[in-house]
Amino acid sequence: MSDNKVDHILIIGGGTAGWMCAAALSHRLRADRVRIELVESEGIGTVGVGESTIPHIRHFNASLGIDEADFMARTHATYKLAIEFRDWGRIGDSYMHPFGAFGVPGAVVDFHHDWLRSGGETALGSIDDYSLPIAMARGQRFARPASDPRDLASTYAYAFQFDAAAYARYLRDFAEARGVIRTEGRVTDVQVDGETGHVRNVSLESGQRIEADLFIDCSGFRGLITEQALATGYEDWSHWLPCDRAIALPSAATGELPPYTRATALEAGWAWRIPLQHRVGNGHVYASAFMDDERAETLLRDQLEGEALAEPNRLRFLAGKRKRQWNRNCVAIGLSSGFLEPLESTSIHLIQSAIGHLLDLFPTGEWDPAEADEFNRVMDQEYARIRDFLILHYKATQRDDTEFWRHCREMDIPDSLAGKIEHFRERGLIADYEHGVFLKPSWQAVFLGQHITPQRLDPRAVNAAAGIRPLAAELTRIATAMPGHAEVLSAHAHATAD
Ligand SMILES: Cc1cc2nc3c(=O)[nH]c(=O)nc-3n(C[C@H](O)[C@H](O)[C@H](O)COP(=O)(O)OP(=O)(O)OC[C@H]3O[C@@H](n4cnc5c(N)ncnc54)[C@H](O)[C@@H]3O)c2cc1C
Repeated sequence: MSDNKVDHILIIGGGTAGWMCAAALSHRLRADRVRIELVESEGIGTVGVGESTIPHIRHFNASLGIDEADFMARTHATYKLAIEFRDWGRIGDSYMHPFGAFGVPGAVVDFHHDWLRSGGETALGSIDDYSLPIAMARGQRFARPASDPRDLASTYAYAFQFDAAAYARYLRDFAEARGVIRTEGRVTDVQVDGETGHVRNVSLESGQRIEADLFIDCSGFRGLITEQALATGYEDWSHWLPCDRAIALPSAATGELPPYTRATALEAGWAWRIPLQHRVGNGHVYASAFMDDERAETLLRDQLEGEALAEPNRLRFLAGKRKRQWNRNCVAIGLSSGFLEPLESTSIHLIQSAIGHLLDLFPTGEWDPAEADEFNRVMDQEYARIRDFLILHYKATQRDDTEFWRHCREMDIPDSLAGKIEHFRERGLIADYEHGVFLKPSWQAVFLGQHITPQRLDPRAVNAAAGIRPLAAELTRIATAMPGHAEVLSAHAHATAD
């Protein structure tokens, strides 16, 4: 047996990715065995956006033993039950992508089959009326899900909308308390071993040199180690996801606290609205080939519901991912590993997922390529699944009011997504995807919300409008009996202050 092992980890970057890594690694690896250091540069700063999440983040926080009320107070967080999509299928449309199932648990067929066979929208109203998290989101209610799976109040999950910079600070305190050593400074040079191609050390502007066995590149879009030093290469997906710019602009809180994110399709992209406790996060993601920056800013300002609180933060990106997320002794996590626009709030999830896989495949020190290959295989799949789900929102539009939307309707799509759409269009089947983070209700919401209707239904589907209709009223009743979202947040704030 060999004695080689990874004794020293260096994380480059202190954005959300860097501090999530530092927190998780310091929690899971024993400080007396592995030294964990993090270098970040306040002068360079972080990307400064990233506020909406999916329910998996709760497992990340729980795995660190983080108290939810404390975390929410420190990050000004709100609860999130859904995303509302406005104007995506057609102008004037609105549908919700909920974190939970449609219909009743344990039904024989997926609910959309029964809903469609029973007359669909005409006989039963929107499918959104048959989802508890949507009823809660609309009524601005919140309670934690019930634990009994037979209970209708167990049919949903929830996530958070939070201040990402505050989350990074929170995790920094967590990681430093567990022995992570933080160095302030700018990395100016990366030394690579000519023989093995492994990174040996990095040099800071101050002259300090830091050696490590494993380097985690969390340096953001620039990919300081993975790209600038190791020239890993990038898979460009912009022909499928043409948006390449964003403007972020926070605005004053309006007094409303909707427990959901809104994504409104605009002329050449879309705008987000993310309500936090102390302000509202807004942004416009757009395609520079179809819209100039000035028009993009005007459209964003038109969306604001409160006074702008800062100067606009302008960002550029390219949809895609690194060819190898783990290359030699460097693992790229966060924006350095790739980027998929925040339409379904998935970037922080990809960080979490990469950390989980890195811990599962933690290098033994022998640098067996099988470890990196498996990590890359799984992460590639996760990226591709999310990519497909995002493309669906653009491809399945009936809008033809601008050149951008006409382009999206006509563009080629990956075979994997084409097959998935075909299955649904043919017979309402939501084909399983290995390693896909989005499950049936997510696909149901977007397919139906954007007017893809199955030609045939599951033969087991029932025509039972009279039996189904009362469910909508029952879900509204359950939601209405729950406390208001604002009330729950203020109870947390009092509990943490006590
Ligand atoms: C427009 C937009 C909206 C987004 N919205 C969401 C969302 O709603 N939900 C979601 O999950 N995600 C979202 N994201 C993604 C999310 O913001 C990022 O995934 C997350 O913030 C992680 O960023 P990061 O830590 O990888 O990079 P960054 O925040 O860029 O951090 C990079 C770090 O590296 C350091 N660094 C860089 N170079 C050097 C150097 N030479 N020396 C020393 N240090 C260096 C920097 O100082 C910084 O600390 C969004 C992203 C964008 C662009």
